[in-house]
Amino acid sequence: MSRSTSHNPGHFDVIILGAGAAGLMCAATAGRRGRRVLLLDHAERIGKKILISGGGRANFTNLHCRAENFLSENPHFAKSALAAFTPSDMIALVEKHRIPYHEKTLGQLFCDRSAQDLVQLLARECAEAGVEIRTGTRILAVSKPDRFRVDTESAAGPASFTADSLIIATGGLSIPKMGATALGYEIATQFGLDLVPCRPALVPFVFNPQDTERWCDLSGLSAEVIASAAPSPRRGNGNGNSRRNLQPSFREKLLITHRGLSGPAILQISSYWRPGEEIILDLAPARELTATLLQPNARRDLGAALAALRTLLPARLAERWLELHPPAAWTNPALARFEDSLHTWRLNPAGTEGYAKAEVTAGGVSTAELDAKTMQSRKLPGLFLIGEVVDVTGWLGGYNFQWAWSSATQAGNAV
Ligand SMILES: Cc1cc2nc3c(=O)[nH]c(=O)nc-3n(C[C@H](O)[C@H](O)[C@H](O)COP(=O)(O)OP(=O)(O)OC[C@H]3O[C@@H](n4cnc5c(N)ncnc54)[C@H](O)[C@@H]3O)c2cc1C
Repeated sequence: MSRSTSHNPGHFDVIILGAGAAGLMCAATAGRRGRRVLLLDHAERIGKKILISGGGRANFTNLHCRAENFLSENPHFAKSALAAFTPSDMIALVEKHRIPYHEKTLGQLFCDRSAQDLVQLLARECAEAGVEIRTGTRILAVSKPDRFRVDTESAAGPASFTADSLIIATGGLSIPKMGATALGYEIATQFGLDLVPCRPALVPFVFNPQDTERWCDLSGLSAEVIASAAPSPRRGNGNGNSRRNLQPSFREKLLITHRGLSGPAILQISSYWRPGEEIILDLAPARELTATLLQPNARRDLGAALAALRTLLPARLAERWLELHPPAAWTNPALARFEDSLHTWRLNPAGTEGYAKAEVTAGGVSTAELDAKTMQSRKLPGLFLIGEVVDVTGWLGGYNFQWAWSSATQAGNAV
C-alpha cells in the first residue's frame, strides 16, 4: 500500500497520541502497511511505563491469556483482538529481535535482561516502518473541523497537524508521576463517547485503623493465600445481574505492608473490590490445620495449635493469629470453628493506595462505543481507542501488555 501522497508536511494518514505500549505497537503496524504515521507524546522519552514494568523486566505477555483474564462491562469484547494477535505472535516478535526471555510462573513471560529490550524492539519496529515520533510534545487541543486536527506545543514552538485517522493511546490514570493524564478520557468525552467510571486496580489495600493496629508491625511478612473479593449482593454488573458468580479467587502470595496488604493475591482481587466491601482470605489453602489436633491422644493446647500454624505461616504471623483468634475451647466443634476462621478471614479495607500505586486503571472508554475488530468509534469513524484507556483491564501477569499489543494491532491493521 502506498503512503499518503499529500504534499502537506503537517498532514498524516494517522496521528497517534501516546507513545506507550499500545501507541508504539499500533504505529509500527500501521507504518508497515504503508501509512504515514505521526506518534506524539508529552514525555521526553517513549515507553516510560514499559521501563518500570515487571520490576524492570517487563512481564510482556502471558501464555494462558484469554478473555476470562480481563475485567470489562462486556466480558466478550477482548476476544476478537486477543485472537487476532496472540501471545504467540508477541513471542515471535520478541524472538525476531533476539530478546532473551523466560517464564517466571503461571505463564508469565519476562525479559531476561531488562524492559529496555522491549522499548528498543518497539522503537526499531517504528523506525523500520517509517513512523515519525515526536516526544516532549504537549497536546493543546484536538478537533475535527473536517479531518482530525491536533494542536501541539514543544520546545520547537507551536505546531498543528492533521490526519484522516486519530488513535488515542494515552493509557490510564495510574502513576501520575510517570506522566499519566486523563487526556484520553477527555477527548473521548469531547467526541460524545461514554465512559465507564475509572478506579485504581491492581493496587494495594490500606487497612482500617483497627487492623492497622493489629497487623502493621508485621510488615514485610508474606504467606500464600487464596484471596477473593466479597461483593455486596446488591452490586450488579451493569446488566442487572449479580457479580458474585463472576468473581474469581487467586492463590498467590499476600504481603503485609506498613499500611495494609499487598502482594500478587491482593493486587488481583483489588480489581474486583469496591469501597465498603469485604475481602476474604484463606490462610491455609487446601490444608486442614487442626487435623493433627483432632487425632486421638493428640495434645490440644495453644502450643500444639501454634506448632501446626507455623507449618503454614511465618512464626510471628502464626503467633499473632493465635493471639487474636484463639480457639474458644479445645472441643471438636470449637476446633472446627477455629479451622473455619483460618479459611475465611474477612477483612474490611479502609481503601486502596490509589492511582499513585495502582498498576492499572479499571474502567475507561466504554467498549459499547467501539468495534471490537478495529477499535474504531462507532459514533465517529476515523477515531480509534486502544490500550488501557479502554474499559478492558487485565489481571496481574502480563495480560495488560497483551491487551495493549492486541488492541493496537487491530487498529493498526484497520487505519
Ligand atoms: C509499576 C507498573 C508495572 C507494570 N508492570 C506490568 C507488567 O509487567 N506486565 C503488564 O502486562 N502490565 C504491566 N503494567 C501495566 C502496563 O504498563 C499498562 O497496562 C500498559 O503500559 C498500557 O499501555 P498503554 O499504551 O495503553 O498506556 P501507557 O503505556 O501508559 O502509555 C500511554 C502514553 O501516553 C502518554 N500520555 C499520557 N497523557 C498524555 C498527554 N496528555 N499528552 C501526551 N501524551 C500523553 C504517556 O506519556 C505514555 O507514554 C504495569 C504498570 C505499572 C504502573
